[in-house]
Amino acid sequence: MTRTRFAPSPTGFLHIGSLRTALFAYLFARHEKGKFILRIEDTDRNRLVEGSIDQIIRSLEWGGIQIDEGIEINKDGNLVQKGECGPYIQSERLKIYQEYIQILLESDNAYYCFCIRERLDHLRKTQEANKQATRYDGHCRSLSLKETKKRVAHGEPAVIRLKMPTEGTINFVDMVRGEVSFENKQIDDQILIKSDGFPTYHFAVVVDDHLMKITHVIRGEEWISSTPKHIALYQAFGWNVPFFAHLSLLVNEQRQKLSKRHGDISLEDFKEKGYLVEALINFISFLGWNPGDEREMFTLKELEKEFTFKKVSKAPAVFNREKLNWYNKQYIIAMNPEELVDNALPFFIQHGLVNPESIERDFLVRAVQLEQGRAVTLVDLVEALGFLFASSLIIEPELLVWKKSTRDDAKEKLNQVVIFFQTIKEGEWNKVKLKEKTMVWIQENDFCIGNVLWPVRVALSGQKNSPGPFEIAGVLGKDKTIVRIRSAASLL
Ligand code: GLU
Repeated sequence: MTRTRFAPSPTGFLHIGSLRTALFAYLFARHEKGKFILRIEDTDRNRLVEGSIDQIIRSLEWGGIQIDEGIEINKDGNLVQKGECGPYIQSERLKIYQEYIQILLESDNAYYCFCIRERLDHLRKTQEANKQATRYDGHCRSLSLKETKKRVAHGEPAVIRLKMPTEGTINFVDMVRGEVSFENKQIDDQILIKSDGFPTYHFAVVVDDHLMKITHVIRGEEWISSTPKHIALYQAFGWNVPFFAHLSLLVNEQRQKLSKRHGDISLEDFKEKGYLVEALINFISFLGWNPGDEREMFTLKELEKEFTFKKVSKAPAVFNREKLNWYNKQYIIAMNPEELVDNALPFFIQHGLVNPESIERDFLVRAVQLEQGRAVTLVDLVEALGFLFASSLIIEPELLVWKKSTRDDAKEKLNQVVIFFQTIKEGEWNKVKLKEKTMVWIQENDFCIGNVLWPVRVALSGQKNSPGPFEIAGVLGKDKTIVRIRSAASLL
């Protein structure tokens, strides 16, 4: 059975590039009817950030990426592990690594190294000065295991290194990049266990991928040079080597690697800016993948059916903001207004426009439709609708006057509209009926359309540009509409 995993280090928020890795590993598992596993790689104790495991899980959950095995947050908000290959947090697996490193020591595939910092620094500086590749020189490679064990037992600090073969090559077929080959002699004797007894990433990742029965290792391109070290470890253990897929780099439009410095790269940022999860997932799935035809809109379920590595490109994937905006807009347009309110409500509350204690849902359902075709994000939507919620508007009186008209005329028209609107029954108070009736009334009175509709629109919105007067009046309702027109007339 296909088993893929996402193995983040808990060093902060989920980066958008990591989300892509998780998504591709998840989609592939689903496509192959396999399992998707979450493992936390927390052996680098200096980089840990408190709370990140929760963050990562919540972000995956938000994205709809379901974890079959690994860690989840239960109803009480606690982290719990599920699955038969646990624990799924590396710091809880230290005993396992100790056990497996013994196998490599006994089979002479690993050795204790006692070289102190000063020696290694000196070695590196000399190599740099001679323009050589910096690497360990094998100083402790031929010490006998018996002797080294004694030294360790006496408390001498040591690391354990991989005894890389000095000849031959490591070849593998990457599912994205095709054939890859590295010469063994170019590969350093990697540290497997640090002096504090913790495994390094290289050792833990191989032991865990093997014990967790991972069939396909899917990760970012930055790990490709580590893969031969990992394969050397599989070979040293005599284990089957999994398949590998290294996903291309994510770059911005200037072709620079996406990085924290350029802002906006954590999933949280996008969420806070009012991007919809469906849009983001659809957009991210296209970062290096496409269905091979013109289709662009995919739900997560559809992606699960369509996704294969045959359509994953090795070229750097460009993170195109315009495209993301396009997706978000399409998803906002496609939503029914009820759903849109559900999604926008937290933003209305956050902007202080809606009191969570007294939500007027019908009003919101009408309101969101005013901007549904225009808004790029939920924040745009909410900001553009702010005027609807104001108890009174601040209006520059001159703005109420249509180009060819005068203040007096604008005042008179507004007053007449108030009288006319009062004759319209509540049951007919909707944008369609309002428009129909008002246009007839304008015609009957021989008014110029602009002289009436411009001041009314400004009276209702307080803005130079806004949705049309009937749309706004329909949302505000009869009473509020009349109050706003009256108070605008009083400014003139
Ligand atoms: N812990 C590594 C990371 O943070 C995982 C790399 C891998 O998937 O092997 O990206």
